[in-house]
Amino acid sequence: MKFFSTRNPKICRTPSEAIAEGIAPDGGLYLPESFPVFPMEALSSMSGDDISVAVLSRLFDDFTENELRRAVTAAYDESFENGDIAPLAEAGDAHIMELWHGPTCAFKDVALSLLPHLLTASAKKCGITDEICILTATSGDTGSAALSGFSDVPGTRIIVFFPDGGVSPAQKKQMVTCPGKNTAVCAVRGNFDDAQSGVKAIFTGEAPAAGMRFSSANSINIGRLAPQIAYYFKAYRDLLAKGRIKMGESVNFVVPTGNFGDILAGYFAKKMGLPVARFVCASNRNRVLADFFESGLYDRRREFHLTSSPSMDILISSNLERLLCMFVGTDKTAALMQDLKEKGMYQLEGDTLAALRAEFSAAWADEAETAAAIRSYFEKYGYLADPHTAVGICAYEKWKASEEANDHETVILSTASPYKFSRHVLAALGVAAGEDEFADMEKLSEISGMKIPAPLASLVDKKVCHTAIVDIDEMPAYVRGKTEEKEWNV
Ligand SMILES: *Cc1c(COP(=O)(O)O)cnc(C)c1O
Repeated sequence: MKFFSTRNPKICRTPSEAIAEGIAPDGGLYLPESFPVFPMEALSSMSGDDISVAVLSRLFDDFTENELRRAVTAAYDESFENGDIAPLAEAGDAHIMELWHGPTCAFKDVALSLLPHLLTASAKKCGITDEICILTATSGDTGSAALSGFSDVPGTRIIVFFPDGGVSPAQKKQMVTCPGKNTAVCAVRGNFDDAQSGVKAIFTGEAPAAGMRFSSANSINIGRLAPQIAYYFKAYRDLLAKGRIKMGESVNFVVPTGNFGDILAGYFAKKMGLPVARFVCASNRNRVLADFFESGLYDRRREFHLTSSPSMDILISSNLERLLCMFVGTDKTAALMQDLKEKGMYQLEGDTLAALRAEFSAAWADEAETAAAIRSYFEKYGYLADPHTAVGICAYEKWKASEEANDHETVILSTASPYKFSRHVLAALGVAAGEDEFADMEKLSEISGMKIPAPLASLVDKKVCHTAIVDIDEMPAYVRGKTEEKEWNV
C-alpha cells in the first residue's frame, strides 16, 4: 500500500515511511492510494484484537501480521478496563460506544496506546537511527494519552503543548504530572488552533537537533488514525452479537468531532466495507464543521469559544483535508488549503457539497443544550455522559428530527469519561461544584453510583513536574532549547 500527500500525488510513501514522517513535506496529510477490503464474513468470530490486526495489516502491509499482533496485544493490555477498548452501552434507542476505558479515560487512548509501537517499528523499518521527538498540540486529551503512550519509550521523546486555560483541571493534572524522563509539557498563551499551527510551523520550518527527528502524535499522523478504524467494525460485531442487526444491514454513527479524525476513521471503515448509512458530525459551539456541511463554506474567521467540551474547541479541523482529497483530488485540495491559509476560508462547489452530504449529516449543540442533554439522559436512562458525548447526544436528537433521519440502528461514540469533566457534568445536573476537581469527582460518584476510574482517582497524589509556559512565537525556541538538553524532567 502506498500513501500519498493530499496536496501532491508525487509525494508517495510506504506505510512505515508515512508513519515515521507524520506529515508530508508539503504540509499535506498522508492518504492511502486505495482502501483494502475488510473480511466482513469473518467479523462475527473475531476478537477485538483480531479486528485491529485485520484492519492494520491490510493498510500497513509492510508490517507482518505477527508484528502487528504483538503491538496490538501490548497496547490493549490491562490498562484498558476488562481489556475491552470499546464496550457498547445503551441509552434510549441509541447504542453508546464507550471509548474511554483506557489509561487516560478518553478515546484517544485507543490510538495512542498503539502509536508508539507502530512508530518505533516504522523507524526501524526505514533504517532511521535518529531519536524520534514527538511534537504535539493538544486540546486536552491527546496530550495525556500521548504522554501515557510514549512515556519512557526508548528512542523517543515527546513535547506536548496545551492551550493555557483551555483544558479541564483533570486534563491539565494528567499532563503536568507525567513523570516520564523523555517528556516535556508546556502551556501556550493562546488557543488550541494557535498551538496546533505553531507545531505545524515547527514541523515544516525548523531543523531538529543533530541525531533527532520530529514526528507527530496528532491525528495528522496516519498511524494515529488507522487504529481508530477498528472500533467501528467492533461496534458492528457487537450489534450483530446482540441480535440488533443482521449481517449487511447498515447502521449510523454519531461522532463528537473536533479535528475530524475520529469520524474520518469511521468513513475509512465504510470504504473498507463496513455497512454505514450515515455519519452524523456533532460540533459544539465552535460549529465550523456544522456550518461547512450546511453551506459548503469553511470559514475559520469567527470567534473562538471555550466550551465545556474543550477537546472539540477547534476551528481548523485538520483531517477534513483528507476527506476533501477523497472527493476532489490533490490539486483542488492544495488550492483549497491555500485559500484556508491565505483567506481563512474556502468554498466548495455545489456538486461536491451534495456528494459529501450524501454521507455526512451535521448538527451542533450550544452550552445550554449540551448541559440539558447530560441531564435528560441521566434522568431518563440513568446514562451519565461527559460534555463531548453530550454534544453527540444532542446532535443525534436533532438529526432524528430532521429530514435526513432514517430507521437504522445508531451508535453514538462516547469519547471521554464524565469524571474527566466533573465540574461541568455536576453543573448540568444542577449540583454546585466543590472546591477542587477531586471533590467534584467524589460528588459525581455519589450521585451516579459509578466508581471514579482508577487513573483519575490516583491523580490526587501525583506531583507536578512540568510548569513551562510560553507565547505562541516562543514555541520554536522552546523546542530548540529542549532538544539541546540531554536530560529532561529530572
Ligand atoms: C479529541 C476528542 C474529540 C474530537 O475528536 P477528533 O478526532 O479531533 O474529531 C472528541 N471528544 C473527546 C473527548 C476528545 O478527546
